[in-house]
Amino acid sequence: MSSLIEQPYHYQQRELVEPDWTRFPGWREVTAAEWASVQWQRVHCIKNIKQLRELMGDLLTDAFYADLERDQAERATMSMLLPPQMINTMVSEMTWAEGRMPAAGEEFTAAFYADPVRNYMLPVFSDRRADWPSHPNSQRDSLHEHDMWVAEGLTHRYPTKVLAELLPTCPQYCGHCTRMDLVGNSTPQVTKLKLAGKPMDRHEAIIDYLKRTPTVRDVVVSGGDVANMPWKNLESFIDRVLDVDNIRDIRLASKALMGLPQHWLADDTVEGVARVSAKARSRGVGLAIHTHVNAAQSVTPLVADATKAMLDAGIRDVRNQGVLMRGVNATSEDLLDLCFALADGASITPYYFYMCDMIPFAEHWRTSLAEAQHLQHSIMGYLPGFATPRIVCDVPFVGKRWVHQVDTYDTERGISYWRKNYRTSIETEDVDVTSAEYVYYDPIYTLSTEGQAWWRQHSDAAGTHEAATAAAQASRETSVAQLD
Ligand code: SF4
Repeated sequence: MSSLIEQPYHYQQRELVEPDWTRFPGWREVTAAEWASVQWQRVHCIKNIKQLRELMGDLLTDAFYADLERDQAERATMSMLLPPQMINTMVSEMTWAEGRMPAAGEEFTAAFYADPVRNYMLPVFSDRRADWPSHPNSQRDSLHEHDMWVAEGLTHRYPTKVLAELLPTCPQYCGHCTRMDLVGNSTPQVTKLKLAGKPMDRHEAIIDYLKRTPTVRDVVVSGGDVANMPWKNLESFIDRVLDVDNIRDIRLASKALMGLPQHWLADDTVEGVARVSAKARSRGVGLAIHTHVNAAQSVTPLVADATKAMLDAGIRDVRNQGVLMRGVNATSEDLLDLCFALADGASITPYYFYMCDMIPFAEHWRTSLAEAQHLQHSIMGYLPGFATPRIVCDVPFVGKRWVHQVDTYDTERGISYWRKNYRTSIETEDVDVTSAEYVYYDPIYTLSTEGQAWWRQHSDAAGTHEAATAAAQASRETSVAQLD
């Protein structure tokens, strides 16, 4: 009898790799000291096609640039912003087929198209769905965070937790950003909302709300990405939050821990983190960093070093909140590879994978609830329980729900119904939230022929989609009948 049981997923420890950036023509002469410098990384971010061409030399074909240009004109909800660190993980040693860099031109371009990090950080027109590029019920602020602002930038959605959006920028812009309404520069498709108040006034209003709302114990300090805030301003804000007696947990949201680890490795940042961590510990407050990594190849030795620097400085835990996306990580193999790279290689706790939200032009990334449930099932049992991520659906007006918590599910039309057990800040006492139902929609192209036909019949081609919304509500009875 064999002592090794064959498993659907084969675990093996992998060493992290910092890919060699000199493989890109534009970075042939870049030194290790330059690469390690956060200033160098910020100055050399790729923000437009011209800069991408200069970096790539003859690696990519003209057809790729045309595809990218069309996406920027007709589809993109986020502008281009890629730190060198992130580009360097695309088509890297970790992903080369046959152990060699693909040849310039068609071969490299094919590998670039197929690359998971490229897929969500540098989307192109041909990635998106031609049929149903957006769900009829997609919205710019699909989670209605703005509707739940109790002060500018402060969302109070859960009973004991708030989200403080301190700034609307990040060191990197992700194609699928759920805060596309507010974060980043405007694109031809999306004119961004602007924060009206001055930063200091907004921060004052947030602190004031925390002080006069003792039922709030937990603050997610986000944006954008806190790595884009001058450290002294961020430290002063965290310091003031730590002075509010009712706050017991603070989580700093920074994808830059992966996208720009050089920021979190800079001496002044590490020293500042040590100061606020010491204060948090002395007050018994849990100060954690939540990052956002979607592919195993993004976890490099520099990311591990930055995480270690944060843990050594006194941060209680570093956790990952990834986004589940087709073409990026929506297989059990990819999710488990990522989780093991995070946990084994970088001491980052895999925490959540969010289903991609219902923002415009995201249908090609989104998975159905059934697919997400299947993935949750298929990753169980491999990781320690505390490091087994929950796949969650962020249901509009509800919040995160584990994907198996769905109440009823009309699989033909791809409409799931959810319940909640608390009131958000926009629901008054006369609303019976516990009996209300909230709705989430699968991507239409994943549905059966009948389901797709139903949506074609019920969605308003003119673009208001009110007919589809009304019809979706009416389908509740069908859903219940299906389950009986
Ligand atoms: S880092 Fe977060 S907030 Fe910034 S663009 Fe990416 S998903 Fe959006």
